[in-house]
Amino acid sequence: MKAKAAVFREIGGSLSVEAIDVDSPGPNEVLVRTVACGVCHSDLHFMNGSIAGAVPTVPGHEPAGVVEAVGSEVSTVKVGDHVIACTSMACGHCTQCQLGARHLCTDRRAGRRRKGEPPRLSVDGTPLYQFADLSGFAEAMLLHERSLVTIDPDIPLDRAALVGCGVTTGVGAALNTAKVRPGSTVAVFGAGGVGNSVIQGARLAGARQIIAIDIFDHKLETARHFGATHTILSGDEGVDPVKEIKRLSGGGVDYAFDAVGNATLSSQCLYALAPQGLAVIVGAIPRGQKLTLEPGHFYLEKRIMGSLMGSSAFQIDAPHYLELYRQGRLDLDAMISERVSLEQVDDALAAMANGEVTRSVIMFDR
Ligand SMILES: [Zn+2]
Ligand SMILES: [Zn+2]
Repeated sequence: MKAKAAVFREIGGSLSVEAIDVDSPGPNEVLVRTVACGVCHSDLHFMNGSIAGAVPTVPGHEPAGVVEAVGSEVSTVKVGDHVIACTSMACGHCTQCQLGARHLCTDRRAGRRRKGEPPRLSVDGTPLYQFADLSGFAEAMLLHERSLVTIDPDIPLDRAALVGCGVTTGVGAALNTAKVRPGSTVAVFGAGGVGNSVIQGARLAGARQIIAIDIFDHKLETARHFGATHTILSGDEGVDPVKEIKRLSGGGVDYAFDAVGNATLSSQCLYALAPQGLAVIVGAIPRGQKLTLEPGHFYLEKRIMGSLMGSSAFQIDAPHYLELYRQGRLDLDAMISERVSLEQVDDALAAMANGEVTRSVIMFDR
């Protein structure tokens, strides 16, 4: 079938909206009519070359939609189901999958078509890579069934889409990766979509103090809305976020999160910790940056670690997060700053790069 999609051909280039060809579902594949797709920093990182990826492709990896058709072997979703998709696509067989760390699956190829098979996506006969094995900036997606989870149809799909990446990445970093304890203290660098999700996760976990750090005042305001108890406006001359965090927390926080992905901020996360504290790098640090750390901090048994997709078991955690949304305990409504059409995707990417939005969501009915 033909589908309108934002095609990306060259690192550093821009998107062009055109009609692509989407193949029919193979045995384990699902054709999804995309209803909404969030615009995430990783899309931008890939497009400007900060993280690796192949072209030509269709970006987008935070989609939600409705199942249109399923392959002969598909057993987990059916036509008409409302679904969200996630790039975590466990093969079920590798060591990480067997250990239960399905988000760290080492066999991504298990979710792709084999060499020699026709491509899932193409344009004018040229195969397109599927960004994150999803390619959500398109009005139709052809996906492996293991990248999908069915959700209750009463959850609005634009809100649900956010759980496919940003919300799961942030909330999961607090709940699963760091396992934030009730009554603890937390600092979060960066109050965008992921940072505010970390803040919400820390609030859900019962942290007594949540300090948000950002270079934009308006983002700190949203951080307070999502649960930050204190804020630090950094970037100004003379403001040392580490000193401020230590002052506000009485010596250092139990957990610090780099939700931006920046080597300087990641090191500040370590420095801002109390003894035995845990620093978690959530954002993708661009290629080329090196993390340099003052070793003295390790005498205090501080730890620093990464977090991928919120260490989440997507098919289990995503419906749980949506239940928290239904109960009013996880705010997805305020996460969406604007809804845009596919044609406006470049503007949405620019707004994110400029720190103007928490999340822009592409709506395909526009
Ligand atoms: Zn993302
Ligand atoms: Zn695996």
